[in-house]
Parts: sequence; structure tokens; C-alpha cells
Amino acid sequence: MLRTHTCGELRNEHAGTTATLGGWVDRVRDHKGVIFIDLRDRYGRTQVVVGPESPAATLAAAKRVRPEWVVLARGVVSRRPEGTLNPKLPTGGIELLCEALDVQSEAETPVFQPGATELPGEDIRLAHRWLDLRRPAMQENLLLRHRIVKLMRDYFDEQGFVEVETPMLGRSTPEGARDYLVPSRLAHGSFYALPQSPQLYKQILMMAGFDRYVQVARCFRDEDLRADRQPEFTQLDLEMSFVEADDVMAVIDGLVARTAKAILGIDVATPLPRLSWDEAMERFGHDAPDLRFGLEIIDCSAIAAESSFRVFRSAVEAGGRVRGIRVPGVAEKFSRKDLDDLTNVAVEAGAKGLVWLKLDAAGSLAGPVAKNLADGVGERLVDRLAAAPGDLLLIVADSFDVTCKALHTLRKRLGAALGLYDPRTMHFSWVIDFPMFAKDSETGGWASMHHPFTAPRPQDIERLESDPAGCRAVAYDLVINGSEAGGGTIRIHDSRVQERVFSLLGISPEVAKERFGFLLDALRSGAPPHGGIALGIDRWVMLMANLDSIRDVIAFPKTQSASDLMTGAPGAVDPKQLVELGIRIAAPPKASG
Ligand code: ASP
Repeated sequence: MLRTHTCGELRNEHAGTTATLGGWVDRVRDHKGVIFIDLRDRYGRTQVVVGPESPAATLAAAKRVRPEWVVLARGVVSRRPEGTLNPKLPTGGIELLCEALDVQSEAETPVFQPGATELPGEDIRLAHRWLDLRRPAMQENLLLRHRIVKLMRDYFDEQGFVEVETPMLGRSTPEGARDYLVPSRLAHGSFYALPQSPQLYKQILMMAGFDRYVQVARCFRDEDLRADRQPEFTQLDLEMSFVEADDVMAVIDGLVARTAKAILGIDVATPLPRLSWDEAMERFGHDAPDLRFGLEIIDCSAIAAESSFRVFRSAVEAGGRVRGIRVPGVAEKFSRKDLDDLTNVAVEAGAKGLVWLKLDAAGSLAGPVAKNLADGVGERLVDRLAAAPGDLLLIVADSFDVTCKALHTLRKRLGAALGLYDPRTMHFSWVIDFPMFAKDSETGGWASMHHPFTAPRPQDIERLESDPAGCRAVAYDLVINGSEAGGGTIRIHDSRVQERVFSLLGISPEVAKERFGFLLDALRSGAPPHGGIALGIDRWVMLMANLDSIRDVIAFPKTQSASDLMTGAPGAVDPKQLVELGIRIAAPPKASG
């Protein structure tokens, strides 16, 4: 080894011994001819001192070094003189009195200093990721990620799960996103699809008898990226045989409790709370509700239906709903401008408007439409929403979907703005019994809410065709702090039910045979009841680290436009490669770089 210790290792008890450290120059200070070098590596920082008593060559080298140079420093560990101790640094009691300073590598002036408190824009960090990843905060994030993944692997190993790798070059699996395709050189015009998930392979593994499968699996989905999405991401993917939903959830409950304890030092009570999808939508307007605070949605449709206020009545008559939330004690605090802002939030979420009402100290309602709520409607609303003087009421009248979206957005916004929860608390819960199908807005037909292999509840199998909207799936999503952190289902293990579901989804028997024939064959060859789940590892780590950006827990992430600013991917390829693949580009590719 070129070094004897790391930059985070030396303590008082090493005083008097000789040590060699290797690292990056974090800072150099020349203090009246004594040169102080803060040497940094993954483990910490140590102060290296080069003084007049150091050999001349060492002093000369120390005078040359600049930030981010890589050096080896050999010297004697010495307790720092009284008054120069740095209690903030674990190595702050000692310094290395340098005898030899060996420059291994010089560095051009870095685009930004990994040690600086002020960060450049994210594009610069991504383009110079090697510098960004030198930052202690980023190193901590990736180390935390390593610990979490290791903990997961250990946990599942203890529980008898077997890690099996599944192909990257495969056939498209319908998780509802666009595929990344890889052209075949040997069969022009044929394409592999990078896996959106290992879904079908893991089901086949159950039919092959593996019983408990797990994989840290890379998945690819060519979607328009939202803030916390990446085109490639990592799932903790698992599948189990001879299980019901409760069994899968119990395994994950155990993982949540173990992770929370080991990583955050908190005790999480299990089983985790469960909410049905219907209840989640009814009370919180969202299928991944943030349960760290209240502000629950209350349905007021019955009162609204009897009101003479047209906005309310017509919403109910059109088959919609009138629902509201009570924001306690803010009536005085919220200005007209605040209320206009909230109205904009609701409108941006699709609502036609927002009805706000303030309940004053005398118990009467104020607000632009208060006068329209005659004949006791106002009082009944106050009653229904359990409002007290000083409360603000926010009401949306629209279709069920729009009221959900608008009130969920308002709720989230107010929960954060009013500080209704401690941002460091972690809340874990399940949302279960999702609808089997949702209307596909493009085709008008039915689409799977999760994926086409999801089993309906046994009591719903009968009405698959007669009442698709009413069928509920044996599906469960893990929710952490209002964010979907994983989802899974019990699968169909009867080929006839699978065929019926395909047909409901508009997949003809021919297409089903062509695309999923192997699954149907395997289902007909002896299939155990099975189910599983996939957890989004990137998001788990982000939440455990209390970070806002998923890119901060991925070593080499892509931007919102799915490009890698460091390597320049995606980029143009050699025309020869295209010829080999039998591909001609319709429009000339944009000049790269
Ligand atoms: N394959 C599913 C997904 O990626 C998870 C599962 O059903 O196990 O969402």
C-alpha cells in the first residue's frame, strides 16, 4: 500500500508514530512560511504541516501544491499545539509533521472546489461529476446507498430469497411506459427492449420453482422525466410463491422496520397502517397520500345538492362532487393575495375555481360566495367541516377526479407551508385494493392500473367483463411521506383469467400469443399462486437521506432531457454501425456535443 492510514484515521494515540497519507489537497495556507495542507479523501481530512524544519525538497513541493492535486505525505503524527485544536474534525487533535511530500498528480484549476460551501449549477456538477463526487456530501449519499442496498440483500438472504439476474436484452414488458429499444444486428428490423422491469422473468422463476426471488434490478423507461424520475433506475425487485398480499406486505414491513432502525435509528411499529385506494382518494385525494398531517378532505355533496348556489348544485347534478378541507386557525392570517394564490393552485390542478370561506369570531361566514349560501347551507357546511371560528374552508366543486387533484395539491401545499409536520419524520403506510383498470385517455379503452398480470380480488373475477370499473386488484403500494416508494400485486396464475384480462385490455388472442405466449404456456404448465413487489431504491435512499433530488443519490444520473452531461450520451454513432444494423436515420441527426 502506498499509504499507511486514511485521512480520517489518525488520532491522539497515533502521536509519535510515522504515517503516510494519500489524498487530494483540499486547502493550502501559507502562514508565515509554515504551510498547512488539508488533505482529503473518502474518510476525512487531516492537516499536514510543512515547516522550516522540513527537508528543503518537501518545502519546495509544498509551495507548489494547489487544490485538488493528489499527493502522498509521509511524516510524524503530532498532537496539535494548545489553542490550535479543531474539535469539529475527528482528526482535529493531531497533525502530520511532513517529512516527504510526493506529488502524484497535478490538477488544473478545478471548475469548482469540492470543498467550497457554494455549489455551481447542477449542469456543471453533472458535467464534472468526478469533482462533484469528491464532495463529502455526495460521498455520504453513495455510502448510505451502499449500506441500504447491503442491508436489503442481507435481509432477503436471511429470509431465504435467491438473487437471480434477468436479461437486459429482452422482449418488451408492459409496465405502461415507452421502451428503450436496441436494434438487432443479426436480424435487421428486430429489436430487443431494455426491461421496464423484470416482471415476466420473475413470474417465470416462480413457475420454475424458485419460490423466493430477489434482485437489485436496473429498469429502463423512456418517459418524459419528472423531477424524481430517471430513464434508468434501480428497483429492489422480488417475487414469492404460495403467498397472499398480507405475506408480501409482512416481508416489506420487516424490511422497513429494519432499515428505519439501522439507518435512521427510529422504531417503526408494524404492521404498517393500511388504507384502501377508495379511502385514500376519498380522504386525501391521492393514491400516495402524505399522512404526516391531517387536513382531510370532507365530502359536502349532499349539502351542495340542496343549495341554490349554482356552482355547487350543477357540479353534483353533472355527477361530480363538492368537497372541501378545513384549514384550522388561519382565517386572519391569510390575505387576499394568499387566497388568490391558493385559487391559482386549484386552477392549475384543473379546477374551474376555488370557493373559500372564512369563519369569523362571531361564527358567520365571509368570502366572495358567502352570500350565495342561503337557507342554512352555510351553517350546514360549517357543521359538516367541523369548522370553528378562525378557520378557513376551501371547497372545490367538480368531477371526482378534479376535486381529488385540486384538493390533494392544496393539501400538500398547505401542509408544507404551515409547517404541519416535522420534515424529518418518516411515515410509512400501505395503500391497497387499487382498481384493476382505468380508462385509457387516448384509446378510450381499459388499461391496467398496475400491469396486465395483476390478479383481481377473487370476489371480482366474476364481474371482470360486466363491471371492469368496479373490480379491485390485489395490489399494494408502499407510501413513504406522500411518495410512492414501491408497488406490487398478487399475480394471475390461471391462464384462463389471464386471457380474459388480456382481452379486456384490448389485446387480441393472436397478439397475446405472439407477445406473451411463453407466459400463457408457463401458466398452463403448473403455476403456483405468486405475487411480489418492487421498491424504488433511488427514491428510498433519497427519502432516508432527507434529500429533494433523486440525482443526488445516483452516481451518474441523467438530466431532465435524459442526457448524460459527462459522457455526452446519447450521441451520434459511426455511420458504419448504422449500416451493420440496417438502420437509416430519417432526419439527419443533430450535431452532437
Ligand atoms: N414490476 C412492477 C413494477 O415495476 C412491480 C411488481 O408488480 O412487482 O412496478
